[in-house]
Amino acid sequence: MTSDILIKGGRVINPTEAGSSSNGKTQGSLANNQVLDVRIQDGKITELASELKPRDGEAVIDAQGLWVMPGFVDMHTHLRDLGQADREDIYSGTGAAAAGGYTTVVAMANTDPPTDCAEILDRIIKRIQERALIEVLPVASVTKGLKGVELTNMVEMADMGAIAFSDDGMPISNLGVLKRALEYARLHGKPIISHP
Ligand SMILES: [Zn+2]
Repeated sequence: MTSDILIKGGRVINPTEAGSSSNGKTQGSLANNQVLDVRIQDGKITELASELKPRDGEAVIDAQGLWVMPGFVDMHTHLRDLGQADREDIYSGTGAAAAGGYTTVVAMANTDPPTDCAEILDRIIKRIQERALIEVLPVASVTKGLKGVELTNMVEMADMGAIAFSDDGMPISNLGVLKRALEYARLHGKPIISHP
């Protein structure tokens, strides 16, 4: 399988470039909301221009009438794996996300059992490695069992790869618990995602 791709004739939407300019040039804004060809070599965008000619061994994708955008990130998904695989699992959820243009999803901690300790997080990380079709960043819970009372071992789970901490739809109503959680979050530099 070639890793070199030429995407032809799509409208390139690149909001991070909108209106930007460096050294007085308008290069940035030219790369946003324009019909352009995109050349990808070894997984990196190497050329953005109109009427690029296909090269030997390059896979050509006709994107006329389509938008070409950076991969989306969904900050809040429920992949239902572990424990509710009759509703969704990591394979089906990441497949649906990929079909919608998402390249990264953040998976909430209200799994069954909740992602509230190293053992469960380890199982989820292994399942992501085995089954995910795109990047999945796991969230661990702030409190044990999402009950809002006792903090999880946030430091350990941050080290293991938890991207953030959240009790999802269970707001942390005890301000003392929330304050300590925020202090830990500051220590390891991972955010608390709160549903107020
Ligand atoms: Zn949620």
